[in-house]
Amino acid sequence: MINIFQPSLGEAELAAVAEVFATNWIGKGARVDGFETAFAQHIGVPRPLVTSFNSCTAATFTAVELAGIGPGDEVIIPTVCFVGVANAVAAAGARPVFCDVATRTLNPSVADLDAVRTERTRAVIVLHYGGHPGDIVAIADWCRDNGILLIEDAAIAIASRVDGRACGTFGDMAAWSFDHGKIVVTVDGGMLYVRDPELAERAPTLAYLGLEQSSGYDSALRQRTRWWDFEVSSFSGRSVTNDVLAAIGAVQLRRLPEFIARRREIAAHYDEALANVGGVACPPPLPAGHETSYYMYWIQFDGDIRDEIARDLYEEGIYTSFRYPPLHRVKAYGSDARLPCAEEAAERTLLLPIHQALTDAEVERVAETVRRRVQVRSAR
Ligand SMILES: *Cc1c(COP(=O)(O)O)cnc(C)c1O
Repeated sequence: MINIFQPSLGEAELAAVAEVFATNWIGKGARVDGFETAFAQHIGVPRPLVTSFNSCTAATFTAVELAGIGPGDEVIIPTVCFVGVANAVAAAGARPVFCDVATRTLNPSVADLDAVRTERTRAVIVLHYGGHPGDIVAIADWCRDNGILLIEDAAIAIASRVDGRACGTFGDMAAWSFDHGKIVVTVDGGMLYVRDPELAERAPTLAYLGLEQSSGYDSALRQRTRWWDFEVSSFSGRSVTNDVLAAIGAVQLRRLPEFIARRREIAAHYDEALANVGGVACPPPLPAGHETSYYMYWIQFDGDIRDEIARDLYEEGIYTSFRYPPLHRVKAYGSDARLPCAEEAAERTLLLPIHQALTDAEVERVAETVRRRVQVRSAR
């Protein structure tokens, strides 16, 4: 089976893990610190503004808490978004309000956000569909002008930029994912960026049981107290990562340029191989100055054949999928919105395999199978 996503973990990551084992310290320590420092450098922000987590979802829950979002607040989320984002908002007692997205890019515009804005709108949480930055610059301006917080779900935008500026740094906070299906993989993991330095200082405390960071041996000695005494400033859970996973992450982050270069080649290969397949559209071209992470390669069908083609491809050993099924249709969120562009996209869009381990022959096989099966289905 050709996987849709697949991690690239090898000797270098194993060697880094072996080094951590040899230190006898596998918990949160020097490697986590090193990974956070490297990540801050990668996105171009001061080191103290980033905090690692055991998942992007945990980072997003923390962002919502840091933002003080709660009962009575509304948070606008594009309906084509990750379930954990809506859960973070709903769990805080706030109301997720879903907006439409453009059918071709599956990203929202300012007009889409504006259409569902009310006086209770406290924040906007947007992702960058497929890795494409979307209208993030205009959305950040609109949020600033209207006193609305902007949180970026940058889970799949680790190498996405606009005019050189990293996605995730346009708003007030952002979260990235390193789970098993992403590009930089630590097995599980996430990173939180908080623009406000005072708020950012609270993030590590919220990630670790609300413990005051002054606890620990060194600071206890300085304060002439016992190092096992502690205070808590919030009733937090525990969502820190550890040195084993951070050691993997540091290696993966170094390999990111190589991963992106290969993904770019694969996307270009698909673009060329599928360009003349009638009734199939490739991802829209990137605007000038935009860089994508090539996290997804999505095609869209003119006719009502998406589900059949997905089954056809599966039969031939090619795994495809659609992300993210519209959240306004998930009953638990209690939405009665009609969002026609997202609904249309959700019926026509299919994600093809894209990951840095795919060979040219596999990419050609996927493209050839799509071409052949579409011809058969369209002729009926
Ligand atoms: C994977 C993903 C997440 C969640 O990441 P985890 O690390 O698995 O919690 C959030 N948003 C988007 C868009 C994702 O694709």
